[in-house]
Amino acid sequence: MQPMKEIGGPLDPECDCYTCRNYTRAYIRHLVKTNEILGVRLLSIHNLYFLTKLMERVKIEIEQDHLLDFKTQFYEEYGYTQKKGK
Ligand SMILES: [Zn+2]
Repeated sequence: MQPMKEIGGPLDPECDCYTCRNYTRAYIRHLVKTNEILGVRLLSIHNLYFLTKLMERVKIEIEQDHLLDFKTQFYEEYGYTQKKGK
């Protein structure tokens, strides 16, 4: 578990979604731990935004015939090995 000061920023500093622009990771954690429905709602907003952006990127990579390179880069960035990510 991370120390509280390390979870004070947004869920994803590189994300532009409503949740990441307006709420800290610590606050969302508090909401989830106390079963406040807003926590799940904020996480859903972030997750849907992330998946939408990912699919937009996949579409571009397919059009440019770079999908396999992108796959390798994505797995490295998010800590998946090829074996684990299949
Ligand atoms: Zn986000």
